[in-house]
Amino acid sequence: KDFRNKVKPNWCPGCGDFSVLAAMQRAFANVGLEPHDVAIVSGIGCSGRISGYVNAYGFHGVHGRALPIAQGLKLANRGLTVIAAGGDGDGFAIGMAHTIHAIRRNVDITYIVMDNQVYGLTKGQTSPRSEMGFKTKSTPHGSIEAAINPMEMALTVGAGFVAQSVSSDLKQLTHVIEEGIKHKGFSLINVYSPCVTYNKINTYDWFKEHLVNLDDDPNYDPADRSMAMQKLMENNGLVTGIIYQNKERKPYEDMIKGFKETPLSKQDIMLTREQFDKLVAEFA
Ligand code: SF4
Ligand code: MG
Repeated sequence: KDFRNKVKPNWCPGCGDFSVLAAMQRAFANVGLEPHDVAIVSGIGCSGRISGYVNAYGFHGVHGRALPIAQGLKLANRGLTVIAAGGDGDGFAIGMAHTIHAIRRNVDITYIVMDNQVYGLTKGQTSPRSEMGFKTKSTPHGSIEAAINPMEMALTVGAGFVAQSVSSDLKQLTHVIEEGIKHKGFSLINVYSPCVTYNKINTYDWFKEHLVNLDDDPNYDPADRSMAMQKLMENNGLVTGIIYQNKERKPYEDMIKGFKETPLSKQDIMLTREQFDKLVAEFA
């Protein structure tokens, strides 16, 4: 069960995305998957390259559109473990509408966001995840827009699984990805994945100083949605671990009447001449 392939990532040395890749590969093996069980759909950005670096099915989509493709894949073949992956620009700027609707729709896929709070691929502009005051070539006097808090956003639109981690904690990162895969329904995992080239504020050291690990709090209950919201608000979103999980909510697929477990590709959908004529008559 080796999920590594021979492609050498062309991320900058030290980029947080290396850990996300390693954690994904470990998590797949740990939950007992084989390469032919997994499909990774990515968007555009430095992080979008990840679908080419895993020994599994890969689909490098268009900007902000990994989620529609990933949901379609899952509905066409329920047997696949489908992972969508991308950056904060991909998921929380151009793709934000898809993110919100995929969360509330609840198709059983796992969405991993590599959140570096900047646009890396286009050489360092402010993203919707950049904090106010963040200076880049697109905001030379500092950003004057409020940053999106994706974890709070997810809770308010009905998420069933919300987790966050950081590239420097490979153990926790692997664990939350495993739990996200095992969760029945849409899982959102936001990973603080530092861009060492264009974000000199939100660095590995900065996260070490600011992140609060929920795994260290024995009284924290991820089934309690209001506790989750309170923790996020108290810490400006800077918490890691499984923030919220609703194990009762059914995935979308389970609620479609007559939806077949057998993938479309394996269903016998040949029509007899009579059935075909009847169908045509119905549409006439
Ligand atoms: Fe990673 Fe930033 Fe380099 Fe892109 S520009 S590969 S996000 S360190
Ligand atoms: Mg980014």
